[in-house]
Amino acid sequence: MQVVASAGREDIARVYIAEMRDGRTVEFVESVQPPIPREKKWVLIVSTLFGCPVGCPMCDAGGGYKGKLSKEEILEQIDYLVRKRFPEGKVPVEKFKVQFARMGEPAFNPAVLEVLEELPVRYDAPGLLPSISTVAPYGTEEFFEGLLEVKRRLYRGRFQLQFSIHTTDPKVRDELIPIKKWGFEGIAEYGMRFQEPGDRKVTLNFALAKGVPLEARVLLRYFPPERFLVKLTPLNPTYRARESGLVSYIDPGRPGEDYDVVRKLREAGYEVIVSIGEVEENRIGSNCGQFVRRHMRSGAPLEEGYTYPLEDVSREETCWRCATTDMHASS
Ligand code: SF4
Repeated sequence: MQVVASAGREDIARVYIAEMRDGRTVEFVESVQPPIPREKKWVLIVSTLFGCPVGCPMCDAGGGYKGKLSKEEILEQIDYLVRKRFPEGKVPVEKFKVQFARMGEPAFNPAVLEVLEELPVRYDAPGLLPSISTVAPYGTEEFFEGLLEVKRRLYRGRFQLQFSIHTTDPKVRDELIPIKKWGFEGIAEYGMRFQEPGDRKVTLNFALAKGVPLEARVLLRYFPPERFLVKLTPLNPTYRARESGLVSYIDPGRPGEDYDVVRKLREAGYEVIVSIGEVEENRIGSNCGQFVRRHMRSGAPLEEGYTYPLEDVSREETCWRCATTDMHASS
């Protein structure tokens, strides 16, 4: 893997663009959450597919599907970020989150399970907290059974599972996630098997657009508040969201949780997280649904996203074994 370009800021987030040996391109991200220092929380977000066959209408990483990354190709992204900061592979970070969420629906790639097996072996990282965010595609039952098994064996109490469902209206859900997928019954049944004593609650994520239904009474039919929490995120500035006419319900420029939907969900007994994050991440292009390569192809830039310059790092020589730019005699 050769990292060819990057954009961002050390104190917030940085996106990396890399070419794999066969010339296919991926992106991955590292971020922190100011004012929390990196020693307390560090988040890596890696790609699992080249493109994505789902093609959600708010996501710039969708479309142009060109296959799955291998276990090694996923690990190379993680290795690059870890070895840059912790060459020995010891990661003394309290919450070291690895999200399989930059480009690609992770349940389509069984290599993600192999990576989950490998992470605790490869790194000395007591704070490791892997996170799978999925739209629950139909036909991926084998992946999810494997995930449950790996979680039980290696990650009890320190695994984050998130279902991105975006609405409680099944018809609208079909438009926002345009593939065949599990119904709410299937998600609830699996989520309740997955969330065992000591585990975190399963997250139901809504990147909520204006006018899109999110009804607490529908959620209550399937998802008990003791086992599931609700996370609301803004719809980040993407080219696809603009083309699709989707406008965020959550205002990323307005701090606070004063929204009708939040109130109703809390009244229904749900723990609700309004996850706004750093607006600067939108400008960097590191946020969920964003994809810098899509921006590079665009002739009509977005005002509120992707405004950072891309730095060419292709001339940095990278050690193929430890992924640092520090070339050593032995390599
Ligand atoms: S949001 Fe996820 S599933 Fe949807 S197109 Fe983007 S990467 Fe694929």
